[in-house]
Amino acid sequence: MIKKQRNKPCWCGSGIKYKKCHLQREQELKVPAYKIHNDFKNSLKHKECKVPNELKHKCSNKIIKAHTISKSANLKSIARDGKVYGMNFNMLDIEGDSNPVQLELIHINQASIFYIFCSIHDKVLFAPLEDAEFIFSQEQIFLLSYRTVAKAMYMKEQQVKLFSENVSTYDKGFTNKFQHSYIQAISHMFSDEESQLSDIRRIKKTFDNDLLVSRYDNMKYYCILIDKVPEVMVSGILNPDRDFDGNILVDYVNDPTKEYNAIVTSIIKIEDNGAIIFSWNSSIESHECDIFIQSLHNLNNEDKINAITCLLLKKNKENLYFSPSWYEGLDSNKKKLIDESYVADEYINHTDEEVEELLNSDMTLLPSYFKNLDRSSQKKLLNSIPIKDDDISDFEEYDLFNWKILDIKIEA
Ligand SMILES: [Zn+2]
Ligand SMILES: [Zn+2]
Repeated sequence: MIKKQRNKPCWCGSGIKYKKCHLQREQELKVPAYKIHNDFKNSLKHKECKVPNELKHKCSNKIIKAHTISKSANLKSIARDGKVYGMNFNMLDIEGDSNPVQLELIHINQASIFYIFCSIHDKVLFAPLEDAEFIFSQEQIFLLSYRTVAKAMYMKEQQVKLFSENVSTYDKGFTNKFQHSYIQAISHMFSDEESQLSDIRRIKKTFDNDLLVSRYDNMKYYCILIDKVPEVMVSGILNPDRDFDGNILVDYVNDPTKEYNAIVTSIIKIEDNGAIIFSWNSSIESHECDIFIQSLHNLNNEDKINAITCLLLKKNKENLYFSPSWYEGLDSNKKKLIDESYVADEYINHTDEEVEELLNSDMTLLPSYFKNLDRSSQKKLLNSIPIKDDDISDFEEYDLFNWKILDIKIEA
């Protein structure tokens, strides 16, 4: 009987036999912090040219470090001694008090680089963007967005791979009870990651189809031109799930299968000025993008800049680079606002009463696996989920930049 159990698939859902998976996990050696750190770092060393399959026969065999924010045009302009401030991920301190996510000085050769294009495609594909003056052509807007979408897909793919290959073994050496709540928690996160991956793959596919026929007129954008070289450079992607008035634009609960579009955010330098660009491919249904942009457009000009700053710090911080002299020159309150946004994911310890209260309230929104857990596992799980502050309507205090709006260009 026991032998039979041992040969059954493990309860954790790994698909591996129990005897080779969780059978003696509490007696195994704990995974050391440096191993976890290296797993995360190595996951971004995977090299692959992200052009559509139809173009892969033209790839060179060299995958290069591709900058998702143009190095010469943008990063150099804000660097000091070749360095900028950006987010770094340091898991070595995971058992200490410091946050694994930190704002650190990063060399621009290392900033915003990903192994996502071969040397030929990085050069040829993006030449109209990199080697020409930025004139807001549809093609340039397309390429700027395409590179960010390709990066976002790569990141998501690597995260999902990391989850399935490594993260599921980090419960080695912990008690049986812990293993159960740990696996529950990560399978929940994992299913989120997987659905985000399928979203971004769908969006990338739409861009690929347009790229193959050089069709750029599906691109919509909203661009704010500012009067100086921005002290921050950005290339990121965001889901317009809330607008600037605080309205929620998505309905994941009642309409879980609905597919949403994403908006690419870029801040670039154009000669002595800057441009904040929101762009999206309108061949995907983009109702939420329209509402989101309209709510930005309705704000007065000063509020627009503060609202965008709030948005970037809450939702785009992983590919955000600051000028060191600007950041270090901020007064302590403004600096604190930035620093805190990097540790904003709060882990809240719930009291038994709070858990009780939550469970006695409306449970319909909670996933069924959660409802079936025992109280202590529920509590552990609740405490392991960071609370994200993603309300972008309270932007008044985000007056970090002294930018004047020169013009607004709209293709929507
Ligand atoms: Zn297992
Ligand atoms: Zn290639």
